Amino acid sequence: MKASFVFGPKDVRTIETTDPSIGKPDDVIIRIQACGVCPFDIRIYEGLFLPYTPCPIGHEISGIVVEVGEDVQSLKTGDKVAVDAIWRCNSCYYCRRGADNLCERRKGPLPNGFAEYFKMPEKYMHKLPDSVALDEAALCEPLACCINAIEKIYDIQLGDSVLVVGSGPIGLMFVQLLNNMGVRAIVSEPLEFRREKALELGAEEAIDPTKVDIVEKVKSLTDGKGANAVIMTFLGESVFHQALNASAKRGTIVFFAAAYPPIKLSFDPNIIHHKEIALVGIEGRTANHFAQAVRLLSAGKMKLNKIISHRFPLDQIKEAIETAKSRNGLKVIVEPWGK
Ligand SMILES: [Zn+2]
Ligand SMILES: [Zn+2]
Repeated sequence: MKASFVFGPKDVRTIETTDPSIGKPDDVIIRIQACGVCPFDIRIYEGLFLPYTPCPIGHEISGIVVEVGEDVQSLKTGDKVAVDAIWRCNSCYYCRRGADNLCERRKGPLPNGFAEYFKMPEKYMHKLPDSVALDEAALCEPLACCINAIEKIYDIQLGDSVLVVGSGPIGLMFVQLLNNMGVRAIVSEPLEFRREKALELGAEEAIDPTKVDIVEKVKSLTDGKGANAVIMTFLGESVFHQALNASAKRGTIVFFAAAYPPIKLSFDPNIIHHKEIALVGIEGRTANHFAQAVRLLSAGKMKLNKIISHRFPLDQIKEAIETAKSRNGLKVIVEPWGK
């Protein structure tokens, strides 16, 4: 089969490699229909995180089951699936306390979703109803990470307000999730087409932070109180200070994005103390968050097709990654077999 690997910084190639085959009785092999390009893939491609070469890339995977091992019960050939492509040991300290996103023993290899076929055990494959499109299903993984973030907002009630910083693919997922929850989404985004998309998908306001004072605007929209949570889909010194000042009392500031290269933040901790602000980090998603994402998508509650802007074949993996990096579009997906 064909599969893409990173051979060194900015050197990504699609090569011929061996087809996966059933090895263990719980193995499932799928034909990959779609795989999303994620900032994590860009980091590997740029060489910022390149543990070994050739390094497999692509973890936002959906497909159709083509073969199952003899013990597989929940899936059969022809089923549509979304793949929770991260190994969890299920027996370490963190797995046992329900935080399997922080598993200390991720046994398996890095996933290779930019490929024609893919194999993983049954427990990582989530069956989808026929009504779900497989290009949208590939986005279950980032959606599950957003659900992880929503769950960590410590005081949120119906009719509350959340400031979403950035309306790229992730910010637009947050807008839809907040709408589903009966929470007002206020978006801060410098790019006009992304602001328009946020409004189309249900944001109450989409503000240009290069022209408008975000803190004042958020306060004016919330009776002077501020946002009950601020979700930073990208991170920077000024974004963080805006978040602190735009936050209501008992607000949660969510560090959704990693900062590469690393940055330093300095701030007056008294503001955390007096306003009872919580600062929370988000690392991936648990198996439970992934299952929630699958249910939400299966129930028709998310319009993920609205945030897919580009589609590429496997042979154009470099263009796919460069397009995602350029921020000229929204979500970029690779479709090894075409649409
Ligand atoms: Zn991802
Ligand atoms: Zn574990």
